[in-house]
Amino acid sequence: MEFNKGQKIIGIRVLRDNVIWLWKNSNSAVVIDPALSQPVVEYLKANNLNLEAILQTHHHSDHIGGTKELIKEWPNVKVIASVKEKDRIPFQNLSVRDGDKIRLLDNEVQIIEVMGHTKSHIAFYFNNNFPVLFIGDTLFSAGCGRVFEGTYKQMYNSLRKIKLLPKNTLIYCAHEYTKSNLLWAIDLEPENQNIKNKLKEVEKKLSLNELTIPFLLDEEMKINLFLRAKNLKEFTFLRANKDSWV
Ligand code: ZN
Ligand code: FE
Repeated sequence: MEFNKGQKIIGIRVLRDNVIWLWKNSNSAVVIDPALSQPVVEYLKANNLNLEAILQTHHHSDHIGGTKELIKEWPNVKVIASVKEKDRIPFQNLSVRDGDKIRLLDNEVQIIEVMGHTKSHIAFYFNNNFPVLFIGDTLFSAGCGRVFEGTYKQMYNSLRKIKLLPKNTLIYCAHEYTKSNLLWAIDLEPENQNIKNKLKEVEKKLSLNELTIPFLLDEEMKINLFLRAKNLKEFTFLRANKDSWV
């Protein structure tokens, strides 16, 4: 798949399993949830790119850890975060709320609030030839975020919001958790051929040192038990089951 206007999204793996996404054109870039600054600074400098914006999905340190240093390097950078997180993401200079639209790299980007992992988690959605969603820690391939601050109901409703997006939405999450999520899902549904096939595909990618994300919403609908949950009760059972799974 190709974006319009020569744009690209690349992933940088950092820490144990975080992925920092860099969305760029030929002269500027937007970074999503920079856990660390150094690999971002190195990449942008090596490629002669200006940092236009930092998008923060939520306040956890593995998502905002590099932001301060990036602001030092690019003092005019927009730091975009939820208006509800002025305390926990204090360096934000463009505060947004659900439904807001902002312009980045010549695209209209929509803010979608997806509560559950935290009480103010947001996602970023745009359509440039095909739809893209930066979802942070709300949805993972074959999994979903832990419910830390919100309620199961909020998380369930957040997943329902995601399911309303176009089926060809390409979803960029913040962690490479796919394999362990699939192993859990196979434990629960040992006969599910779609999950078995996905596990093979994922193991192959990992053996080649490739990322298993982003993923497509309609493909995810076949293998993600959380997205397939028929009601809140089923979702709650799955989330609690996954929390205690080792
Ligand atoms: Zn998190
Ligand atoms: Fe995280």
